[in-house]
Amino acid sequence: MNIHEYQAKAILKDFGVPVSRGVAAFTPEAAEAAARALGGIAFVVKAQIHAGGRGKGRFRELPEGAKGGVRVVRTPAEVKANAAEMLGNTLVTLQTGPEGKQVNRLYVEEGALIDKELYLSMLVDRATSRVAFVVSTEGGMDIEAVAHATPEKIHTFSVDPATGIQPLHGHKVAQALGLSGDLGRQAVALTEGLYRAFTQKDMSLLEVNPLVVTKDARLVCLDAKVGFDANALFRHSDVAQLRDESEEDFKEIEASRYDLSYIALDGTIGCMVNGAGLAMATMDIIKLYGREPANFLDVGGGATKEKVTAAFKIITADPNVEGILVNIFGGIMRCDVIAEGVIAAVRQVGLKVPLVVRLAGTNVDEGKKIIRESGLNVIPADDLDDAAQKIVTAVKKEAA
Ligand code: ADP
Ligand code: MG
Repeated sequence: MNIHEYQAKAILKDFGVPVSRGVAAFTPEAAEAAARALGGIAFVVKAQIHAGGRGKGRFRELPEGAKGGVRVVRTPAEVKANAAEMLGNTLVTLQTGPEGKQVNRLYVEEGALIDKELYLSMLVDRATSRVAFVVSTEGGMDIEAVAHATPEKIHTFSVDPATGIQPLHGHKVAQALGLSGDLGRQAVALTEGLYRAFTQKDMSLLEVNPLVVTKDARLVCLDAKVGFDANALFRHSDVAQLRDESEEDFKEIEASRYDLSYIALDGTIGCMVNGAGLAMATMDIIKLYGREPANFLDVGGGATKEKVTAAFKIITADPNVEGILVNIFGGIMRCDVIAEGVIAAVRQVGLKVPLVVRLAGTNVDEGKKIIRESGLNVIPADDLDDAAQKIVTAVKKEAA
């Protein structure tokens, strides 16, 4: 689960991590009031969307050459005017995809006088099973481009969970960022605070780009992008409350409502499978036969008819889906329940694309019977290989 920059900064602040002062605003009037309350001689109006690259982004509704999603202005009146221009409009950035994201919230922040822009991120490194830091002196820009062009400018190290965070980790960060003296000490404190926030709040990703050195020699997180491990949200009700459903794929919201593990992908074959391993194998074999999966979907072990119906609706709601492959190996899951769910969903939402169903395991005969007697145009398959070939062939035929 992702949150907005202003929310991420509030959490970091609780852990003693230095961030700029700011106030969230939902209307131009509130943005102006926020600027007055902050005071000072420069304000930054920042679009709050769950995507980076806002500064270099472009508003679809505004003329070419208009400012992007991060605007530095001088007065509260200018804050208001810029807020009015941004709110309700669609910001397109490198990370939003061409459809962009509507801006419904702003963050009004005090303007910082920047000396240097650095990069720091943290993630869970699966290779080492540890929390890793990634730091670079090349902050403020597209870090993927830096990694590509000058990989030697990116430093990575991980923290042994047995020792936890130690001053030596902070020293590594300071050294990699070329910070010494008092700034070096600030880097040590910052590293510790970020690590505590990351682990205590069960974050899965934290990216500070840029981390800046100000002209008055302070280290400040000027941007913050944070994601949380969804499986740990049950122990962070404060974090769960920050969820902004308007930022999420509605298919994924529906899926989480029914406790389905669903991930939207770019392909054309919708998949409904039980078990993550079988789901992965199904996706692989679709690729092997020349198509791409439209989603990952694990309906889980003890799915009910309602859950299967919801899953099927989510798959068919994806306009890119040209065919659907249901692949169930009934262990705890019963094939007749799956069959009933599929039939119920097809009756409700209709079936405009070919559907291949492969059932095996518990109550397979009942399942097959339900599908056979439904009168619906379902293509039965015997095994995974057969099922994948059949759906790919059916989709090709449909297109011809
Ligand atoms: P994004 O990464 O989505 O473009 P950032 O928060 O990183 O958004 O802002 C983009 C750039 O705007 C930063 O690299 C920095 O140069 C500038 N900026 C952001 N916030 C401030 C601020 N409070 N004061 C001064 N400059 C800022
Ligand atoms: Mg940024």
